[in-house]
Amino acid sequence: MPIHVFHGVLADWSVDSRLDRLYVPTVAFSGFLDRLTSRYVPAESCGPDDIALTIDDSTMAAAEAALLARGRGHDVTLFLNPHQIIAQTPYFFTILGIAIDRLVERARKTDPRASWRSPHFLQLRQETRAQIAALDGPALDGAMRAFLERWDLDWPDVPAGVRAIDPQTLSRLTSAGVQIGNHGWSHTDIAAMSPDQLWNDISMAQRWLEDATSQRITSYAVPFGLVTPPPEVLTRLPGTCMLVDGTRPVGPLAPDLVNRLDITDDIVARARLRQPWFGAVPRSQPERRGWRVAMKQLLRGGRSRRG
Ligand SMILES: [Zn+2]
Repeated sequence: MPIHVFHGVLADWSVDSRLDRLYVPTVAFSGFLDRLTSRYVPAESCGPDDIALTIDDSTMAAAEAALLARGRGHDVTLFLNPHQIIAQTPYFFTILGIAIDRLVERARKTDPRASWRSPHFLQLRQETRAQIAALDGPALDGAMRAFLERWDLDWPDVPAGVRAIDPQTLSRLTSAGVQIGNHGWSHTDIAAMSPDQLWNDISMAQRWLEDATSQRITSYAVPFGLVTPPPEVLTRLPGTCMLVDGTRPVGPLAPDLVNRLDITDDIVARARLRQPWFGAVPRSQPERRGWRVAMKQLLRGGRSRRG
């Protein structure tokens, strides 16, 4: 029963961008769906021979992907954080991704081969992410601003695709039959939370999501996907708890605890293997972040691991 997970689609996805690395090209995901031999079923009732699709985070990229899947008759669960929708604020890892892209752009002025895949930039991103993933509210905002200041960067404009889902889009999602899931209040890392703090975070998100969508919200996907909630929290959850941990087997790990399969790389790799698909790319797209350029770079650059 593999439960698939990814983070959404960007029309102007570029292989050169660390920000875009979390997502897949819209056309690659459409192609992926069109070539599936079976339909995705609801994640909560996914049997041993079924597959289910889940998408994480309150971004427009995630919403768009969920609507694409529904448009083709697939069931899909979208795991949302209320905070980003209410505050209309981007995720810290979005700002971090944009910052890394800017630093790479700056480095290219002296070294044309500079890339977010360089060990230096991988390390910078990883360390910064580890330091601030457990922060919340003003502390998180302050840490992000301090990071930007240290690297002499302004608070960036956030591209439309990675902005938070707005209330109208949330209505569109529920009208289209997208099942909403709980991804915690604001995507704070749960590793440092006490069981009470974690339950508070989960139940607050649960209440808001149920009020906002009029759906019964049962599944909970752990932010960052790696930490298993303590048993006293797991037993209180109304449905399945979902992880995404590449170091553990995919599928059920315990009753009501499932490890999902991240299909980001697979969607991009399958698109890359299909030559005819190049011809479908409109020539009018902007060259810098356009599809034809991205695909050429993909063919040249090969696959790389997630940072
Ligand atoms: Zn997430």
